[in-house]
Amino acid sequence: MPESLANGLSRPRVRFAPSPTGFLHVGSARTFIFNWLYARHHGGSMILRLDDTDVERNTQASVDSIFDGLKWLNLGWDEEYKQSERIELHRKTAWTIFEKGLAYRDFTPAHTGEAEKSGAQGTWLFNPGARELSAAESDRRAAAGEPFALRFRVPREGGQLIRFADAVYGEQMKAAADIEDFALLRSDGMPTYHLASCADDADLRISHIIRGQDHLTNTFKHVLIFEAAGFTPPQFAHLPLLVAPDGTKLSKRRHGPVVSVTTYRDAGFLSEAFINFLCLLGWSPKNDRENMSLQELTDLFSLEGINRSNAVVNFKEPATTPEETFDPKAVWLNAEHIRGLPVEELSARLLPIVQGEGFDVSPEKMLRITPLIRERIKLLRDVLTTADFFFVDQLPPYDPAELIPQKGDAAMASKVLTRAREVLANVEFKHDPLDHALRAAAQELGVKAGQMFQPIRVAVCGRKNAPPLFETLEVLGRETTLARIEQALQKAGVVVG
Ligand code: GLU
Repeated sequence: MPESLANGLSRPRVRFAPSPTGFLHVGSARTFIFNWLYARHHGGSMILRLDDTDVERNTQASVDSIFDGLKWLNLGWDEEYKQSERIELHRKTAWTIFEKGLAYRDFTPAHTGEAEKSGAQGTWLFNPGARELSAAESDRRAAAGEPFALRFRVPREGGQLIRFADAVYGEQMKAAADIEDFALLRSDGMPTYHLASCADDADLRISHIIRGQDHLTNTFKHVLIFEAAGFTPPQFAHLPLLVAPDGTKLSKRRHGPVVSVTTYRDAGFLSEAFINFLCLLGWSPKNDRENMSLQELTDLFSLEGINRSNAVVNFKEPATTPEETFDPKAVWLNAEHIRGLPVEELSARLLPIVQGEGFDVSPEKMLRITPLIRERIKLLRDVLTTADFFFVDQLPPYDPAELIPQKGDAAMASKVLTRAREVLANVEFKHDPLDHALRAAAQELGVKAGQMFQPIRVAVCGRKNAPPLFETLEVLGRETTLARIEQALQKAGVVVG
């Protein structure tokens, strides 16, 4: 139960409980984030619990992917548990329920023999022979070593309704008689998810269970377990599903890498932007703001702001560019967060990407390049295509026709570049002197400033669409600039010739 504060309010304890049977799904990341925001907003505790009792489906690769993804989100947690280390506690809870007469041993192999089924769907409910076995007979067969599953004795008489209030989906109820006698312990003695989850949630004093909507129907069973074991059920808040543009549930099998958290990291999302994006999938603050810092998200987060309808993640199938792989809102938010970062920090995040591609760029140089490109990149990896000409020794080949200024010709390109070579051999490589010298040269040659700048820009960057010219020249320096103009003159010669 929540810890009480002096003011009568309580500090919530929430948990994220992934099963390590796959990679970290964006939906799971959202569950983590919503729990974290709830905990931080209310000064409570965030608990990470690895639901790793399904030994057949667990993999180390999945554990790694979960920790990789969470590490990137960089939000942290306060306590960490492994469900597999708590099996004795789960068993104890199961036997407490058994001793109260609320569970029974079922010696029949799963779902065989004479069975009770529910209404029209005919779902298996229980085997009467097993449910009604006398205590003496049950004890005798168990003592003889016969394997059994331990099943919850779901109340079937009296038309009992199981109820709970979900903070998102409202009042929920279901006839107990429609719930099957689900297992608490399997015949190999291992706890089921339902049992282990409830036993742990009770023991860890979880106050709020915030998890995916796909667990909404499990919750009736969980309410039964909590009550049978003598615990007050926590508050529940189920989160709407994430769906693809065609309305189908987001899945790796159908939708590929867009569903995995590390795909966003590797494509150059800032974790802050990714968190911001995920928050908008199924939650919105009262004022409908979109671009929010972590602090703002923490301040504004509330369970009341979560809506019930499925949240659509938009992307193009098949995507032809890295950008199309992602929801345009995610990309837009990323660009916004990039612009909001202090230059030093952005530079520090770009540097490993550039160095990772094998370019030998110093932190000092990166810090000079960063302000020139930060308005021009949407994903961090765009630095490789936007600022490439700062990193390479040799520009990749470009079309010499690009050197020709607007309303000019090849002869004008040659004339401009020849004069630029002279001017740039002597001028100080600082913004203002470069600006004055090149404008003066344009006047002398009788060309417009733009006609002067374009051939120089293409000569040093290899394309027309590039960051501001004088700042670019400053960073490139005299030697590289002159060498590239020289090469451009040879290319222009080809055009003229
Ligand atoms: N291990 C469960 C899952 O990954 C946890 C569900 C829950 O939060 O109770 O779906």
